[in-house]
Amino acid sequence: MIDRVETRRLLLLDRCDLLVRFHQALDRADNDYDAFDRLGGNDQAGHWYACLVSRLSDWDLRALGELLAALDRLEEGSYGSCAACGAVIDTQWLANHRYSATCSDCAVTMDVGGS
Ligand SMILES: [Zn+2]
Repeated sequence: MIDRVETRRLLLLDRCDLLVRFHQALDRADNDYDAFDRLGGNDQAGHWYACLVSRLSDWDLRALGELLAALDRLEEGSYGSCAACGAVIDTQWLANHRYSATCSDCAVTMDVGGS
């Protein structure tokens, strides 16, 4: 049985951590970019900055998207049911993969058959 209140609390804590990391990464990128700029920044420094910010935001946005989808499923009552096969997701799997929309079997199948 899923403890909805505790799950929601953990998801909201994760969301807060993610947003803090996202802002810290942006601040670091800004500082690094400023340092490059003071040393005589050029197009290469700008390209490096764009790549760093893009890579960090891709990772963070993906995690944030999965987290928000998990919160939505929790609110609508489908959290804990596999989106692929409809089975009840094992609580141990969910404890280790809080954002997962699928059971462990379907997650493995999707990884094998996916891109
Ligand atoms: Zn499944």
